[in-house]
Amino acid sequence: MSSETAHAAARPEEPTESALATARRQLARAAGELDIDPNVVERLRHPAKVHEVTVPIERDDGTVEVFSGYRAQHDSVRGPYKGGLRFHPGVTRDESVGLAMWMTWKCAVMDLPFGGAKGGVVVDPKSLSDAEMERLTRRFTEEVRAAIGPNQDIPAPDMGTDAQTMAWIMDAYSMQEGETIPGVVTGKPPVVGGSYGRETAPGRSVAIVTREACDYYDRSLAETTVGVQGFGSVGASAARLLDEWGATVVAVSDVNGAVYDPGGLDPAAIPAHDEEPEAVTGVDGEALSNEELLELDVDVLVPAAVGNVITEENANDVRADIVVEGANGPTTFGADAVLEERGVPVIPDILANAGGVTVSYFEWLQDINRRSWSLDRVNEELDAEMRTAWNAVREEVDARGVTWRDAAYVVALSRLAEAHEARGLWP
Ligand code: NAD
Repeated sequence: MSSETAHAAARPEEPTESALATARRQLARAAGELDIDPNVVERLRHPAKVHEVTVPIERDDGTVEVFSGYRAQHDSVRGPYKGGLRFHPGVTRDESVGLAMWMTWKCAVMDLPFGGAKGGVVVDPKSLSDAEMERLTRRFTEEVRAAIGPNQDIPAPDMGTDAQTMAWIMDAYSMQEGETIPGVVTGKPPVVGGSYGRETAPGRSVAIVTREACDYYDRSLAETTVGVQGFGSVGASAARLLDEWGATVVAVSDVNGAVYDPGGLDPAAIPAHDEEPEAVTGVDGEALSNEELLELDVDVLVPAAVGNVITEENANDVRADIVVEGANGPTTFGADAVLEERGVPVIPDILANAGGVTVSYFEWLQDINRRSWSLDRVNEELDAEMRTAWNAVREEVDARGVTWRDAAYVVALSRLAEAHEARGLWP
């Protein structure tokens, strides 16, 4: 399974309230800050389209099983729909719509020419053989073929799907369209048009945003201690880069617990989740629980494992000066209010981990232009895009005195509202 997937017993990304309720609440909060047409806000409360399909496949034993699938397309005012495709038993229509709305905000805050989408198939991928996974992927692709495409809607990996799944989608789509169309999906293997640097991009953006946040709050990275919860694709990449840039990573964790060394760990020497799963607790250092890691007296805390780990119950015990959200939704709504009251800045997920969708955009550009970029170019352009987005959000923080989360949503909504107003309502 790729590092782009997040497996856990619980739904890692599901906030305590539904994804749809969260997305609508954030929309209402940002709208309250802005003088925008309420008719535009009303349009953004609803998805443009939700495709619901049934996906019959032949199991290896010859029986036929029928699965349900969805593709929610929220808003395309700024460009084609973009968002992940997950294979998970908990996929629902409403969850797909809510997560599609999050993608709209994320693409807009990064100023990418995309709107938001999300989808999936209601299935436990562990219950399928590789051949069954391939048949399910190809048939799902055929069922949604008319709705996707490089100029319409571009899926990407998510929970339960990976680079191989994207390669199958690209192949199924291309075979039916009669030409090779790599730009229909991102997160592919580089050999069929995937981008270098895609896997490490979300962690890299977390590190870049941490660097900018330290600069904003007048701390040098050399004097900054960092605790990282989750040593997977996002957490390990972020920890390694921050260490490389001079910060001291004092604690990291996986699902089994944390390791702490006040003198600093060597993140490059600790195996990440996809290199050797759950190896963190074997590392030399003081053993802590995941809960204790969240309460360490560090300068920066990066929750990069699962959602809903900073809650109303433990937010008062968080001693970090800055929280940078690596995971999706690690801070609950209640915890957000506690941290705001305590003056602890929380750099939100839609900005901090947006390196993933940004390098997906780079992959789409490379596919369309039939020209691949070097890893150095990807990383340089990602740095530039992250700094631009950071500065746009920072300006709103400075001008309005709002939280970083509210500022990010204000930036996103202003761009969406302006685009809707410019295009108007058809017909
Ligand atoms: P991953 O599967 O590569 O790694 C997850 C890590 O968290 C592992 O070390 C695992 O042991 C640990 N973990 C799992 N459950 C835990 C728990 N309950 N407490 C503490 N640690 C736990 O996952 P990832 O791809 O790094 O994703 C992590 C988070 O970042 C998820 O919320 C994901 O949605 C989000 N995210 C991922 C990407 C991406 O492209 N990989 C992009 C944006 C956001």
